[in-house]
Amino acid sequence: MSETDRNSTLPTDVSLLGLGAMGSALAAALLDADRSVTVWNRTAGRTTDLVARGAEAAASVREAVLASPVVIACLLKRASVEETLGPVAAELRGRTLVNVTTTTPSESRELASWAAERGIDYLDGAIMAVPAMIGSGAGQIFYSGSRAAYDALLPTLDVWAPSEFHGEDAGRASLVDLAMLSGMYQMFAGFVHGAAMVASMGMSAADFAARQAPFLAAMTEGLDGFAKVIDGGDYTVEGQQSLDFSDLTDIVRASEEEGVDPSPIAGVQALISRQIAAGHGSEGFARIYESLRSDA
Ligand code: NDP
Repeated sequence: MSETDRNSTLPTDVSLLGLGAMGSALAAALLDADRSVTVWNRTAGRTTDLVARGAEAAASVREAVLASPVVIACLLKRASVEETLGPVAAELRGRTLVNVTTTTPSESRELASWAAERGIDYLDGAIMAVPAMIGSGAGQIFYSGSRAAYDALLPTLDVWAPSEFHGEDAGRASLVDLAMLSGMYQMFAGFVHGAAMVASMGMSAADFAARQAPFLAAMTEGLDGFAKVIDGGDYTVEGQQSLDFSDLTDIVRASEEEGVDPSPIAGVQALISRQIAAGHGSEGFARIYESLRSDA
């Protein structure tokens, strides 16, 4: 394709592939911010609302890619990105690809290499927000990969949520994202486990949540103290709750007595026990960090 042809096929600022819950929210926020947007979705019919708001609908991935210098992929998983973009690699050459589909760090790196080999500028994004938060100023989106693409697109990326660049290694945004989600899901699992424990005495999950939520919110103030100890590497610092004191076998036993699988809390106790067995019982709770490190 000549440069003239290419320019003549660039009617919009960005093209967005994937109009699920998140992709639709991203497209809507761009339209609200007066960006011109071409949209494409595998299953027809999901473009209607966005077209009513001013988007152009592409009939094919190829048409969508050719419509803009910047292509955003918000698909399901790595496989859907490969399936969708593989056949249009030639059309993507010379354009910027922003992939906000959730992938693992190694998948992000592989996609970045795939793009680099084909002359595509690649920026990986990891969304720390639910669709309702997009465009509201809440949440956060992490990016890694092409610094040039990030710098050039920042005013557009910031339309969605505050942006944060984590370096040119394309896997880094995903790593921070998945680490954040690990903490979140373990907190959710802890709540569900507690709700199962009190269910035996007739307390509803709603009643338990009313007590658990403010307690957990207050406890998060302790994260900063744990972080200082972990970063400093000295688990003997005065004023910490010791591992001996933190022994959770009572909670494990109480769970078993109520007929509730203790797996979530037993997993934490296993980390504690390993450090106590190694002679570190008098040191702080943050020492379980050493149980988690594969090189420890
Ligand atoms: P949805 O399940 O709502 O939408 C998935 C989208 O991917 C649809 O557009 C679907 O198309 C498309 N898709 C799936 N498989 C393929 C395929 N093989 N080829 C082409 N298109 C395909 O998911 P979300 O929109 O919620 O999520 C999109 C991405 O955003 C995911 O990676 C998710 O992890 C990430 N994300 C989502 C968040 C959320 O709260 N929703 C939060 C943070 C990140 P079709 O309509 O044809 O099925």
